[in-house]
Amino acid sequence: MKLILDRLEKPKERGARIIARCPACAEIGKDTAADNLTIFENGVFACAVYQGDAEHSKRILQLAGDKSQAKREFTAPVYRPIPPREPPLPQLTTRQVQIMLRSIEHLGKSDELCAGIAAKRGWKPATVRHSAQDLSMGWITFDDDVRKPDSTCPDSAPCFIYRAGLKVRFMGPDGKKTFRFLKSEGLNHKSLWRSELITQVTKTVWITEGEPDALRLMDLGIGEIDGNAEVVCSLPDAGYTIRRDEIELLRGREVIFVPDTDDAGLTAKRRLTETFCHAAISFSTVNL
Ligand SMILES: [Zn+2]
Repeated sequence: MKLILDRLEKPKERGARIIARCPACAEIGKDTAADNLTIFENGVFACAVYQGDAEHSKRILQLAGDKSQAKREFTAPVYRPIPPREPPLPQLTTRQVQIMLRSIEHLGKSDELCAGIAAKRGWKPATVRHSAQDLSMGWITFDDDVRKPDSTCPDSAPCFIYRAGLKVRFMGPDGKKTFRFLKSEGLNHKSLWRSELITQVTKTVWITEGEPDALRLMDLGIGEIDGNAEVVCSLPDAGYTIRRDEIELLRGREVIFVPDTDDAGLTAKRRLTETFCHAAISFSTVNL
C-alpha cells in the first residue's frame, strides 16, 4: 500500500526521495521540522525516529495510506486458495462401515463360503479367506435393510471392499459375470483395490486389471508373505486413472502391472506407463 502525498504535511522532493512530516509522529505533536518521513522511489517509506517499529508504520498507513488500493490488493486472485484438483474420497458413515464389516465377517467366518467362492473361480480357499481377513473381500446379503444394486442380483453375493466403495460380483441374466457398486448406499467410489494394505515397509506393489486376477496372483503366493513388503492391488476397472493420493502412496516403491492380453489391457498399460513415468516411479509390466 502506498502513501498519498496529498495526505502528508509539507512533502518536498529530495533527489529521488520525498521527505515529509510523519503523520504518526505529527498526531502526538512531534516532527515539527517535518523531516522524519522518507518515501523512497519504489514507494517504500520509513520514519527516521521509529525505524523498524511495525505499529508506527501501520499507523502511518492508517493516516496517509491509499485505502482503495489496499482493498484491491486484498481481493486479488492470488489470495484465493487453489482448489484441489481431485476431491478426496468421502468419509464413510457408520452405516456404510457396518455394511462393509458385516459382509467381511460373514465371509471370514464361513469355511463353506470361502470354499464355494474359490471352487467357482479356481482360486484357493485360503486366498479368499485371507482377503476377508485383510478386509478386502466379503459376502453381502440383501434384504429390506440393504437393497440390491440390480434386480438381477441374487439375494447374497461375494463383494470386493474398496476404501469408499463396495463392488458386488454376480452372474448377470446373460450368464456373464457382472459387477455393481452399491450406489444406493453411496458406496460407489473407486480407488485401487487393497491400496490400504500398503504400509511404510511395502517395497513392491503389484497391480492387476481386476480383482479376480489379483486373487490369482495371491494364489501363486505373491503378496502372501508375512508383513506387507509386497502388496497385490487391482484397478477397479481397466479405464481407471490412478488418483493423485495413490501416486503419492506408491512413490518410492516398485510398481509391477499385470495387464490382460487384450486391447483394454494394452491401453491400460500405455496409460499407466505414462502416469508412473511422469511421476518418476519405478514401473514395469509382467504378462502371466
Ligand atoms: Zn514517525
